[in-house]
Amino acid sequence: MTNLVKTFLLGELVKGMGVTLKNFFARKETIMFPEEKTPQSVRFRGLHAQRRYPNGEERCIACKLCEAVCPALAINIESEQREDGTRRTTRYDIDLTKCIFCGFCEEACPVDAIVETHILEYHGEKRGDLYYTKPMLLAVGDRYESEIAKRKAADAPYR
Ligand code: SF4
Ligand code: SF4
Repeated sequence: MTNLVKTFLLGELVKGMGVTLKNFFARKETIMFPEEKTPQSVRFRGLHAQRRYPNGEERCIACKLCEAVCPALAINIESEQREDGTRRTTRYDIDLTKCIFCGFCEEACPVDAIVETHILEYHGEKRGDLYYTKPMLLAVGDRYESEIAKRKAADAPYR
């Protein structure tokens, strides 16, 4: 009988409208992505990049520590010695479909060459699009170097 009365008086509906009204004026927790963004840590691990020194020379010295430490076996490196005696990569590929974004490669790198940037909005539309080659990684680094350097500097006191 009580349930029948409640049904006719639309008690549940009124209760639900009350919850709606209460939350209508409350502080909104929903973020309207991509127009709005949540704060991001300077240690955020997004799209990889290869960095250069200010003189344009690539940082990577082909030590292969990142390749050795990568738990997903996502990195492939080939290298050779240049005429001036320095060693550089001839191939540096990261298969982002294998990568688990652990950040080990960045931690292992002795010259801050491979980094994980703040970039999270990227995608691939066909097979192979997320297989990042050395020119692609250097292009990401060239494009976002100032932001990468800023984040590295902000994180440095805590390391
Ligand atoms: S973030 Fe981790 S899984 Fe991805 S390439 Fe680097 S070491 Fe490998
Ligand atoms: S990116 Fe860093 S760790 Fe990897 S091969 Fe180059 S210098 Fe070594």
